[in-house]
Amino acid sequence: MTELTSNDVPRVDGMPQFGLGTWKNEDPDACANAVATALEMGYRHIDTAQAYENEEHVGRGIAEADVERDDVFLATKVFIDSLTHDDVIASTEESLEKLGVDYVDLLYVHWPARTYDPVETLPAFEELKDDGKIERIGVSNFQRRHLERAREVLDEPIFANQVEMHPFLQQRELRAVADEMDVELVAYSPLARGAVFDDPVLSDIAEKHDVSEAQVSLAWLREKGVTAIPKATSESHIRDNWESLTLGLDAEDVRRIDAIERVDRRVDTDFAPWNAR
Ligand code: NAP
Repeated sequence: MTELTSNDVPRVDGMPQFGLGTWKNEDPDACANAVATALEMGYRHIDTAQAYENEEHVGRGIAEADVERDDVFLATKVFIDSLTHDDVIASTEESLEKLGVDYVDLLYVHWPARTYDPVETLPAFEELKDDGKIERIGVSNFQRRHLERAREVLDEPIFANQVEMHPFLQQRELRAVADEMDVELVAYSPLARGAVFDDPVLSDIAEKHDVSEAQVSLAWLREKGVTAIPKATSESHIRDNWESLTLGLDAEDVRRIDAIERVDRRVDTDFAPWNAR
């Protein structure tokens, strides 16, 4: 097999449709090493957030890797306690400082919750874009009504909506909304935080192709045109996920995964909009 390179990753409007997640990768060295290992393997999309409290370590990993910063697609997220206009600006400047970069490629509203107010929050994102501090505006955990309201307020396009997606949370409605609104869908927890390893359908397909269940889930997401950002710490997990790029599922595999009825939402905070009363 010829070695996979960063050029093998499909891109949409400059965003590599496969990346590395970093939630819960809080140990400074483990986090920096995972980021540097992934970049040297060929990953070019790194996902972090203010709330992960690891932006410094992610920044160190980027600096340590033998890859130019401009070749990395770097995304972070503003947390729900910093979504007033002034806090968006100040906290993003702090993020840039911690990450050791002049701009991020994508800045997300992490959740439409607590201090989120479209008319306060979103113009601050536009200002950051005008100032060259962010290249694209993203949202996360948004439902149709939040996307519609954000589009009324924003002059700039919404580039992506990052939501939980995997074979046990297939997000048919949000995928249709994203298509309709021309917004990219980025799948978080694409391995269902480990639950993909105990599903008979995924295990059967994995065995058939002699790959891991992680690769099956990631290849299925790719098949749906969705960007996946699996989090992995060890080099072997980072590589296993990377090699999903060579796995082609056949129509029968995809049909079987589409038909999985198990529903398992892995990230379910009390401030999530689906829990709002
Ligand atoms: P995930 O990527 O579905 O699963 C991560 C877990 O799977 C970790 O325990 C990891 O272990 C393990 N793993 C990874 N690759 C593996 C492999 N090939 N074989 C066996 N185990 C493997 O879960 P996630 O971290 O929740 O989601 C991914 C990223 O999405 C996050 O890191 C974060 O960047 C983002 N996210 C965003 C939001 C949001 O609200 N926007 C919410 C959740 C997550 P090791 O670490 O030990 O390798």
